Amino acid sequence: MATRDSWPTDNSEDIAQLRAQIRDNERIWLGFRHVEVDIIGAHSLRELIKLLIGGIRDTFPNVSCASIACVDPDYALARLLAQETEPRLDGDEFVTISRDSLQSLFSDLPRPKLGPCNANLQSVLFPSYKDQLGSMALMPLVLRGKLIGSLNQASRHPTHYQQNAATDFLEHLAAVSAMCIDNVVNRERLKADGLTDPLTGVANRRFFERRLHEELTRWSRRGGSLICMLVDIDHFKQVNDTFGHQVGDRVLRQVADLLGKDLRASDVLARYGGEEFVLLLPETSEKQGSAIAERLRHVVECATFNTGTTDRLAVTLSAGLTVLDRRSGEVGDDPAGALLEQADAALYRAKQTGRNKVVIAR
Ligand code: GH3
Ligand code: MG
Ligand code: MG
Repeated sequence: MATRDSWPTDNSEDIAQLRAQIRDNERIWLGFRHVEVDIIGAHSLRELIKLLIGGIRDTFPNVSCASIACVDPDYALARLLAQETEPRLDGDEFVTISRDSLQSLFSDLPRPKLGPCNANLQSVLFPSYKDQLGSMALMPLVLRGKLIGSLNQASRHPTHYQQNAATDFLEHLAAVSAMCIDNVVNRERLKADGLTDPLTGVANRRFFERRLHEELTRWSRRGGSLICMLVDIDHFKQVNDTFGHQVGDRVLRQVADLLGKDLRASDVLARYGGEEFVLLLPETSEKQGSAIAERLRHVVECATFNTGTTDRLAVTLSAGLTVLDRRSGEVGDDPAGALLEQADAALYRAKQTGRNKVVIAR
């Protein structure tokens, strides 16, 4: 975390020191990149917390403890954590905090806060840490302009965290963490709010449309690349006609499971209609998106579907994929509509040119 803001005079000892500093910053930067990639791929809240806190500890061997504190007014996080049992969390990794206490940690503007850690703060943010902590760094977790928690680390040394240290890596990590926590919670909440599809258990179209608008807002603010993918089962009518609609239903469930199996915490899978699914993959390049689509196509093609008879049932799917990135230019008044229209046109081309294939919108 320590960075230099003055250049040394021309002497070899200082240069060696500067080199060491650069190497150290590089190591920290790499550490952060790893943590970010890991938490984006987390499948559950527990896993997310574990990866985040563990990643901070690995990147900074001098950190005495680290925690995430979140407000949890409707117990959504508590419920989620109670549902899962693995991986096990250690006492301090996750703590809940009242909205007032959280507000009082940060001044009007939620900005990183570095400095001394007193006994009161220690009891709120690191309740089971036994030794006395000397200094701490708190990063606000902000979601859609609202303070939802803080990402905390502390050291026994009183001067380890000082107000003027650079915090850009940590701030970025906090932004990604807030988004991932939100996504994991959303997945749970949508079950309660009638936003899941009862047949397959994945999100429904209403939920997808809501998330698409949120992701587009985020994209217009922060850039990056966003993949939207429409997936449609090939000749599904024949499945129903040949084996009956109950087998058809079972195939739909199995395809939904296969599509959702390796999703990251930030991804969305929804049933878009009948035998059509949609995936939204934030922070995913065209190359990664098309590799994912190809993998999904392959997985379904190779899967065994139970028909209740000895007849083998081959199921394939076609996918149309579109990417929104810095090359996309003007997105117009209805970016959501435009994105879906492009994905749909690509899907149509996949159907027209033989099915069981992925087409990328140009
Ligand atoms: P294509 O390759 O062009 O997509 O052909 P398709 O037969 O898959 O497409 P089509 O639109 O002609 O038929 C879709 C079928 O999906 C017809 C409909 O009965 C069936 N379907 C839609 N929803 C459900 C469902 O919930 N359960 C079952 N079993 N079938 C469904
Ligand atoms: Mg179809
Ligand atoms: Mg269809």
